[in-house]
Amino acid sequence: MSQIAFIDLQAQRARLGDKIDSAIQKVLTHGGFIMGPEVREFEARLAEFCGAKHAISCSSGTDALLLPLMAEGVGAGDAVFVPSMTFASTAEVVALLGATPVFCDVLEDTFNMDPASLEAAIAAAKEKGLTPKAVIPVDLFGQPADFESLLPIAEKNGLFVLDDAAQGFGGTVKGKKIGTFGNATATSFFPAKPLGCYGDGGAVLTDDDTLADVMRSLRVHGKGTDKYDNVRVGVNARLDTIQAAILIEKLAIFPDEIEARNRIATRYNELLKDVAVVPVVAEGAVSVWAQYTLKVKDRAALQADIKNRGVPTAVYYPLPLHRQTAYKECPTPSGGLPVSDRLAESVISLPMHPYLDDPTQDRIVEAVRAAAG
Ligand SMILES: *Cc1c(COP(=O)(O)O)cnc(C)c1O
Repeated sequence: MSQIAFIDLQAQRARLGDKIDSAIQKVLTHGGFIMGPEVREFEARLAEFCGAKHAISCSSGTDALLLPLMAEGVGAGDAVFVPSMTFASTAEVVALLGATPVFCDVLEDTFNMDPASLEAAIAAAKEKGLTPKAVIPVDLFGQPADFESLLPIAEKNGLFVLDDAAQGFGGTVKGKKIGTFGNATATSFFPAKPLGCYGDGGAVLTDDDTLADVMRSLRVHGKGTDKYDNVRVGVNARLDTIQAAILIEKLAIFPDEIEARNRIATRYNELLKDVAVVPVVAEGAVSVWAQYTLKVKDRAALQADIKNRGVPTAVYYPLPLHRQTAYKECPTPSGGLPVSDRLAESVISLPMHPYLDDPTQDRIVEAVRAAAG
């Protein structure tokens, strides 16, 4: 039997036909590889897509998290609240700036930041003499964080809100698109993300004119109006023109792909709900299903069993950040992070992409049912 792809990027490439090849060819011909016309065009389209005033493209999702924190002057003595159940970048950028990541637990059903744990983490940070400065809710596995609960807590505590939408860009809450919650939103165009390019890439979205200006400067070494008078210490974090050209083509079919992802996730839920704990999407929210993640009892056995049936799986994340070597000294609320610890033992993600056809999905479902039943 053929091996099933965990994420089938070739199927998307086949659908786009020669559009991407000619978009790349166009850049090769005009030669504006750095900040070429496609970069501005893509930024305009991305801002329009999500309803944000500014889209600032950059070199990765990690840099998209870094730029707004740099612009806000986050540094030593500051506490930045992040969920422990996330990819390393969310906390890494905080530590890189000399600030302290303070970990929060997540909710058992949506895997996203637990508002009660955020309040407990704020108290823990204050006890340590840190200044609560920012919070980075993550839209884990494609589902928007619980902004309705988190934003008032942030406001009460004067926290800058940076949405880590590396997995959730394209999602909505009550019709409002990701990209417009909090002060800024960071997303990633890593190839395997819901909206990916063919290399590294990212973008920051914001409605704040001043913040946008500072980030545009930071992205190019802290440039001022005179290119050779840098006005602040910045980084080199530009998006390549070739990647922007690719993203313009991919963004055009993204709404249709989001629909397909939701159809596939709903079908998984129907076919698996009696043998595993299937993912839950909060009322009013639309996920982009960066991952389709089950909770199971004996994960190791299930993973091995279905691998033998040609079905690949992945575990996001086997070790929550507060357990990882680089971050284990970072503060956590009293009582620890029991949900993150538990989820790390029980979550497993199945193949998920917009081109997963019914027969292939049936093979995956049969394998899971046979192994879990
Ligand atoms: C992928 C990811 C990032 C980092 O994006 P890169 O483009 O790989 O730098 C940050 N946060 C989360 C939650 C991610 O999934």
